[in-house]
Amino acid sequence: MNLKEILDKEYGRAVAECTNEEIYIALLKEVNALASQKSKAEGKKKLYYISAEFLIGKLLSNNLINLGLYEDVKMQLAEAGKEISEIEEIENEPSLGNGGLGRLAACFLDSAATLGLNADGVGLNYHFGLFRQVFRKNAQTTMPDGWMTENSWLNKTDKVYPVKFKGLDVMARMYDINVTGYDSVTNQLHLFDIESVDESIVKDGIDFDKTEIAKNLTLFLYPDDSDENGRLLRIYQQYFMVSAGAQLILEECIARGSNLHDLYDYAVIQINDTHPTMVIPELVRLLTEQGIDMDEAIKIVSKTCAYTNHTILAEALEKWKIEQLNKVVPQLLPIIEVLDNKVRRRFDDPSVYIIDKDERVHMAHIDIHYGFSVNGVAWLHTEILKNEELNHFYRLYPEKFNNKTNGVTFRRWLMHCNPELTGLITELIGDGWKKDAKELEKLLTFKNDKDVLEKLLAIKHSKKEQLKRYILEKQGITLNENSIFDIQVKRLHEYKRQQLNALYVIHKYLEIKAGKVPGTPITVIFGAKAAPAYIIAQDIIHLILCLQEMIEKDAVVSKYLRVVMVENYNVTYAEKLIPACDISEQISLASKEASGTGNMKFMLNGAVTLGTEDGANVEIHHLVGDENIYVFGDESSTVVERYKKASYCAKEYYTRNERIKRAVDFIQSKELTALGEKGRLERLFRELVNKDWFMTFPDFDSYVAAREQAYADYEKREEWAEKMLVNIAKAGYFSSDRTIGEYNRDIWNV
Ligand SMILES: *Cc1c(COP(=O)(O)O)cnc(C)c1O
Repeated sequence: MNLKEILDKEYGRAVAECTNEEIYIALLKEVNALASQKSKAEGKKKLYYISAEFLIGKLLSNNLINLGLYEDVKMQLAEAGKEISEIEEIENEPSLGNGGLGRLAACFLDSAATLGLNADGVGLNYHFGLFRQVFRKNAQTTMPDGWMTENSWLNKTDKVYPVKFKGLDVMARMYDINVTGYDSVTNQLHLFDIESVDESIVKDGIDFDKTEIAKNLTLFLYPDDSDENGRLLRIYQQYFMVSAGAQLILEECIARGSNLHDLYDYAVIQINDTHPTMVIPELVRLLTEQGIDMDEAIKIVSKTCAYTNHTILAEALEKWKIEQLNKVVPQLLPIIEVLDNKVRRRFDDPSVYIIDKDERVHMAHIDIHYGFSVNGVAWLHTEILKNEELNHFYRLYPEKFNNKTNGVTFRRWLMHCNPELTGLITELIGDGWKKDAKELEKLLTFKNDKDVLEKLLAIKHSKKEQLKRYILEKQGITLNENSIFDIQVKRLHEYKRQQLNALYVIHKYLEIKAGKVPGTPITVIFGAKAAPAYIIAQDIIHLILCLQEMIEKDAVVSKYLRVVMVENYNVTYAEKLIPACDISEQISLASKEASGTGNMKFMLNGAVTLGTEDGANVEIHHLVGDENIYVFGDESSTVVERYKKASYCAKEYYTRNERIKRAVDFIQSKELTALGEKGRLERLFRELVNKDWFMTFPDFDSYVAAREQAYADYEKREEWAEKMLVNIAKAGYFSSDRTIGEYNRDIWNV
């Protein structure tokens, strides 16, 4: 790629004379064109990965890396006195996802293209995403997260599909984003948008009229569902996505030669969580419209669809009332009733019915009965599905259940975000690991190589300095790059237990106040968005921000302990935070985190995990051994029992354990209430003392002990560097290339 020529043609100016924005736009056009020209994956059968979210992150650097142009472009820019990172800054991050589920979908598309699989994504084009988080008065406020600009990676196609709702016909326009594989083919992410969308109806933050479907359908991801109109809007969105997607799939399969009776030879549809479940009845409906009889249509669809379960939290297993579905998609109800009747004829266990006695449709039950595969996303998660949560189903269909432990793409989560570490690894073991991540294990031969260990520490230090600069620029906060960076970044949810981390911070603050200062200063970094309707989650953010301010203002404590909550945590922020991390906080209540993928990204970048035996932490523990991870807390079986027996009483721990009482009482202390809202802090206090539904107290002492041990070990720099090295070397298993290889071998066969 000749940047000079491109810019000369575009603007008639030399590289050094162009603004960063001009360079970004010229590069975007050129790279997008190159990506489009790349060969496409071929084959009779194609995977359609349908997901409500694709948290893809910025694309310029990612595409440059995957097309093999990154180093060249970086050099040409440098020759003109420009930094590629400044050009990256211009790009807006697409707000098409929310957290791990959406990021997983993005990693999967990258890996599927890299492996050359015939595989496209199908989703929605949200204009304002979830929301942009802004802190005001130590609290989260929400703004639209607009990201679409005149020049973007979205390629408008001429495909338009009609979608029928009750009393409303709309058109779905398809936009495509090129998904470049690493040194491989280009696939597509198909995003549907409603032609009549109207951004101007959004007022006052993220408020809008939820009944104006033709104008609001693709404005926001997961619109607030605390009222009925919000819930109906989610149904509108889901059906819009799957109806347009199903029409696209049938059209493409026919074009490849399918007569629809053999659809499963031409398509496999991976349903990512329950949001796209209506694709099952919708495909049945469309096939019967083509003259195929209902029984056969159901059989065809059942051989085409596979389901991934992402959580055992009840709130996420969607149930829609028949009455609600009737208001939006009455055409699906006769089909859903047929699906339910077939289940009732075969089984007499009401817990597996699709429609329950309260006239609610259990979306996951449709997926399990009428999909040919059900997978969990980490070993422990799949075991819990089989033996507890979905045991009734497992006994009916043991052959459908399988595990696919999640993974992340090393192109973004190592090569892009940590070129320094990428360079060192390649210098040591060559670059075979870029295509075969297992080769990272070759690093183990350097475990006692002082020179290599020192280089690892030096890279970590420089990533901390880079993060320091970034946070200073974004938020005006100055970190101490010589402190321990202890990081917890992920969606805010009580099960992930940011509140446990915050209680530790209070505990540590009080210890320092009492004169027990740590050997090395500690910087505790949080990053998290809380759903606008999730009150306690907002209260936890409030507590963290109040702690941040209190400690900042304390000249003595702040020398040893700092708290920083980064604003609007997203993929771009993650790419800066993860390489700079020393200790990766993965402290969910055992059994509740299906897998986690943040844990994998941190490990890959040489952070050491401090975590519970939950999700993929179990596999990390197994891979790195006791020496190279800090594990604490009750095991999943203990937690499951405690819920079953309803035997947990938070107040007992609070009254009996002096350290817990002291930390929890501090939430409503005058120091904190002076900086925040008394009512909110008191509400959080009461929630913990009276309920603590996610059981932070039983794990508190072991958490403190494990954390202190990690901090003590950090002092022994060479030993710590060995732990870092082992974590990096063992991370190969968590490449999404491995995960996608398994999906294809066991489920897709494309
Ligand atoms: C990886 C990632 C997540 C998922 O993190 P978990 O710790 O697995 O919950 C969420 N958000 C962003 C921006 C990510 O990059």
